[in-house]
Amino acid sequence: MKKAIFPGSFDPFHNGHLDILTRALPLFDEIVLAIGENSSKKYLFSLEQRLEMLNKQFADEPKVIVKSYSGLTARFCETEGIKYILRGLRSGNDFDYEKSIAQLNNAISPELDTVFFISPPHLSHVSSSIVREIMINNGDARQFLPEAVGNYKI
Ligand code: ADP
Repeated sequence: MKKAIFPGSFDPFHNGHLDILTRALPLFDEIVLAIGENSSKKYLFSLEQRLEMLNKQFADEPKVIVKSYSGLTARFCETEGIKYILRGLRSGNDFDYEKSIAQLNNAISPELDTVFFISPPHLSHVSSSIVREIMINNGDARQFLPEAVGNYKI
C-alpha cells in the first residue's frame, strides 16, 4: 500500500491545505493527515478540536486517516511505515524553509522523500495565521475554510 503523510499544525486546516490533499489523493492509497503537536507552541484550536474538525471533514473519504503525533516527523513515519511526506509551497520563503526540513528528514531517515505541491495563485495568500487573525477579531473566515472547519462551533 502506497502511504503518505501530510503533516502540519492545521490551526486551522484551510482551503490551501485542502487543495494539496485533494491533488495528492490520486497518487496514494492512503494519506495520513497528521497534526503535529509541539508543547512549546500556543494554538488557537486545541488538539481535540482540530482532530474533531478534520474527522468530520473527511468522514466520507476512506483514503484520509486523521492522526496526531509529537516528536520528530521522521520517527513517526518510521512507526507508521510511511515513505512520502507531502508539503505545500506558496512562495520562495516556503521553499527555503521546506528544503531544509526535507533534507533534515531525509538525513534522519534516508528512505523518506518529500513531495511538494505548488499552491495555485488564488490560494497562495491563504495561511492559518491570517485565518486566525480574522477569527480572533470576530470576522468571517469561511471563504478560506472547508465546510466542517468553517461551521465549527467552539
Ligand atoms: P506547519 O506549522 O508545519 O508549517 P501548517 O499547518 O502551517 O503547518 O502548514 C502545513 C503545510 O501546508 C506546509 O507545507 C505549508 O507550507 C502548507 N501550506 C500552508 N498554507 C498553504 C497554501 N495556502 N497553499 C499551499 N500550501 C500551504
